[in-house]
Amino acid sequence: MATNQPQGSPAPLTLIENARVFTPFPCEHSALLLAGSRIVWMGRDPGDIRLPCPVERLDAAGRWLIPGLVDPLAHIIGGGGEGGFGFRTPELYADEAIRAGVTTLVAALGTDSITRNLPQLLGKVRELQAAGLSAYMYTGSYHLPAKTLSGSVEQDLMLLPDIIGVGEIAISDHRSSMPSHQVLAETVAQARVGGLLAGKQGVALFHLGDGREGLTPLRRLVEQTDLPRRQLYPTHCNRSRPLLQEAIAWGRDGGYIDFTTSTLPQLLDDGELDAAEALVLCLRQGVAPDRISFSSDANASLPRFDAEGRLLGLEAGRIDSIWQQAVLAMTREGLSPEQVLPVVTRNPADILGLNRKGRLAVGQDADLLLVDPDTLNIAATFAMGRRLWHRPDPD
Ligand code: ZN
Repeated sequence: MATNQPQGSPAPLTLIENARVFTPFPCEHSALLLAGSRIVWMGRDPGDIRLPCPVERLDAAGRWLIPGLVDPLAHIIGGGGEGGFGFRTPELYADEAIRAGVTTLVAALGTDSITRNLPQLLGKVRELQAAGLSAYMYTGSYHLPAKTLSGSVEQDLMLLPDIIGVGEIAISDHRSSMPSHQVLAETVAQARVGGLLAGKQGVALFHLGDGREGLTPLRRLVEQTDLPRRQLYPTHCNRSRPLLQEAIAWGRDGGYIDFTTSTLPQLLDDGELDAAEALVLCLRQGVAPDRISFSSDANASLPRFDAEGRLLGLEAGRIDSIWQQAVLAMTREGLSPEQVLPVVTRNPADILGLNRKGRLAVGQDADLLLVDPDTLNIAATFAMGRRLWHRPDPD
């Protein structure tokens, strides 16, 4: 990739040529023109367009050009501590997200909302924004009533551009606040109203534990209130086969399903499915492809408990797992790029209401990745029109 552009500095115009473009769907274009932070032209022959000023040209040499990954759940200030203070997980560095191809992420608090809090989370979101990423956050935490920055979920959504929903609210989990139906309904309603007034989706992200109720609390919300199903976004749906079966039924009824890509061999032995396998089962059983997304759960604690609830061990989730599972879905599971790429780009962007994210089209934010077609390794990451990272050329 020959370029004179210093890494990270904004190019007024960047022309990427000779790419195999996935919008996330395959298309006939092979070239993209970026101006500032947007995609302003797509086509086959850049000779067609008159450029008003010098342009940085970049030969993609047949690599895939795909949208930057959209990660709906990352614990960017760490999480956990389920074994005490010695078990806290570390913060995420911007560099880790950039190398993992994640150009948009949504941050959340987790189990600990006492020594980790929303001002810290907002500060870290702003740090990632300053590094060139599109970072957002959920207000609240595992526990209800939701802790907020400004006094209410509605106010947080309306007053803070960084906040796009509430979550991750723990249900069916021994670490939840055991929220009643009424408290859940009120919280989702606050996110919906705040979202409507702020022009945001206002989703409620739900952490699904391995508890006995499974998705029942969300079914109850749909059946007993006027809240639309699309406000509800359950994650960790690949935690076990019974929960996956419930999630597939939920997805066939039109609900969204999110699969966690961070996992451990011991968790797979305990009955968790990896996200790639869960995706195949969903598609085979008739869930509409646009209902499904992957999230990394980066830097969350991945604790293991015995049958009596005693902690056995704990590790941290990884942001690079999101692309690893997408690759596994294409290689090990044999799915096509057009079946897999939307799950990590367009679908989460649409579910979260991030309209300029998740697809390559004129007018969209210039968040994109170059991918080596042989290895499926990420070769370069562009965010908001800036090339933030590229794999060094072998000399
Ligand atoms: Zn969780």
